[in-house]
Amino acid sequence: MSVLLGAIADDFTGATDLCNTLHRRGMKTVQLIGVPKAGTRAPDAEALVVALKSRTVPAREAIAKSLDALAYLKEAGARQILFKYCSTFDSADEGNIGPVAEALLSALDADFTLYCPAFPEAQRTIYQGHLFVGEVLLSQSGMRDHPLTPMRDSNLVRVLERQCRHPVGLVPYATVACGAERVAAAFADLRKAGKRHAIVDALFDRDLEAIGAAAADLPLITGGSGIAQGLPANFRRKGLLGAREGADRLPPVRGSAAVLSGSCSQATQAQVAYMREHTPAFTVDPLAAAAGRDVASEALSWARPRLGERPILFSATAPPDEVAAVQERLGREASGALVEGILAGIARGLVASGLRRLVVAGGETAGAVVGALGVSALLIGEEIDPGVPWTLSLGEPALALALKSGNFGKPDFFLRAFSVLEGGEQ
Ligand code: ADP
Repeated sequence: MSVLLGAIADDFTGATDLCNTLHRRGMKTVQLIGVPKAGTRAPDAEALVVALKSRTVPAREAIAKSLDALAYLKEAGARQILFKYCSTFDSADEGNIGPVAEALLSALDADFTLYCPAFPEAQRTIYQGHLFVGEVLLSQSGMRDHPLTPMRDSNLVRVLERQCRHPVGLVPYATVACGAERVAAAFADLRKAGKRHAIVDALFDRDLEAIGAAAADLPLITGGSGIAQGLPANFRRKGLLGAREGADRLPPVRGSAAVLSGSCSQATQAQVAYMREHTPAFTVDPLAAAAGRDVASEALSWARPRLGERPILFSATAPPDEVAAVQERLGREASGALVEGILAGIARGLVASGLRRLVVAGGETAGAVVGALGVSALLIGEEIDPGVPWTLSLGEPALALALKSGNFGKPDFFLRAFSVLEGGEQ
């Protein structure tokens, strides 16, 4: 098996979302957490997605990390590179989307790429270069007041022009609606006119398929996870990828099971409440830990007689007033780090005593757990709820991991996750 697509994602959960799209379209996909050390052998996969944390770091740092990832992916044999960012084009005026794309273009010795963050399934569409979130312009959506990357201009041509040294063009919807050939011709015209960058309109999934087909021979493509929809078909047309519909299931993983929840988002609150009705639960109390109790050890002693095939729950999830009270006592960052540390410690202890199947709720929490377990690569498997797949960690011991950020998933997510893993309903 050879690597066809190499992707660089500017954050962890965005990378998983992209992996999920590629897996659903039949590519064997591995997510790498950061850039592997030089000389590390690439995993056996058709798509490799390197997850960076480069969205909001200074542009120079984002460029350096992205070029490292590119070097690794080229070495691994990737034939085409995808730079993945958020479907709301999250970036500051000085970057990082434009500067990273320009650096990748020069490193690839290429002079043109497209930008299409559209994701119709999540109601992100682009018309005349303007990004809409549902019915409203990006600048009128919640992104207007994002703490790190406030988006107050919906015209992506203008946004990108502020970030790039070279001029930016537009492929308007009137062209996109005519299909892949017309889009490819528009790319050629813009390139002749000296434009290195093109924002591309898209309203429907079929537009993303057409844009993907038009981009078959571009060394670099940029966009949200939606743009990946059209790419597996290109490799199939070239005879490089098999015709199968979905990718293979993950190999079965035996060993005890648990759920660790450090997310206090609304969806997770409902999921934890549901799970508490069905399974033994240990409540992680940050104030007890702050008072000097070894909560991770207490949790592990509690778990010992209960661990088995049926998942048990460890939860720090609390309603907003409780979280606020803890934050007031301990500070926002300190309480977050404390809870993440406890859950990561529990995860390490559980794996040491034979746990092999684990669901983690919370983006930051998942990062902490994966870091503590020393996991650096994940093979993507079955989707549980939209955007959240099971994964298999590569390396010893092999763990089945489902990493769910904040507001993803229905109330029965945790139990359903295990039934999906066992080959049950999806
Ligand atoms: P989400 O994906 O829902 O945003 P995260 O894991 O990214 O979840 O963030 C939740 C943060 O809240 C983490 O830093 C976690 O440690 C912290 N946290 C979880 N439970 C509590 C609690 N009971 N009190 C204070 N902070 C908590």
